[in-house]
Amino acid sequence: MNVRFRGKPKLKRPAKPAAYTGPSIDEIIREARQKRSADGDYRERSLRIHGLVCAKCGREFDHTNRQLLTVHHKDGNHRNNPADGSNWENLCVYCHEDEHSRGVLADYLSEKKDR
Ligand SMILES: [Zn+2]
Ligand SMILES: [Zn+2]
Repeated sequence: MNVRFRGKPKLKRPAKPAAYTGPSIDEIIREARQKRSADGDYRERSLRIHGLVCAKCGREFDHTNRQLLTVHHKDGNHRNNPADGSNWENLCVYCHEDEHSRGVLADYLSEKKDR
């Protein structure tokens, strides 16, 4: 490969041959996503698997109000997050509160609402 630096530098760089064999940026991102979703990111996964709809009242959500849709753990264990989503249920905050019915979500709700 001849590299010449004579004359004006050209804006266009010669296309490099596909010699780079390391992981592509896409692969790196994908791996980072997988790692993150292994613990904390189950909400996004559950919404993706089950859709933006409350499993209890059937209310539908979209990107403008999806923060009202929460993920309920059927067995109550927040660490039990199987990849197939079998322990998750998408519930709107109202149904979710009802599901627990003991103010477990009080903190969560008080964060989302002004009062
Ligand atoms: Zn609901
Ligand atoms: Zn719950």
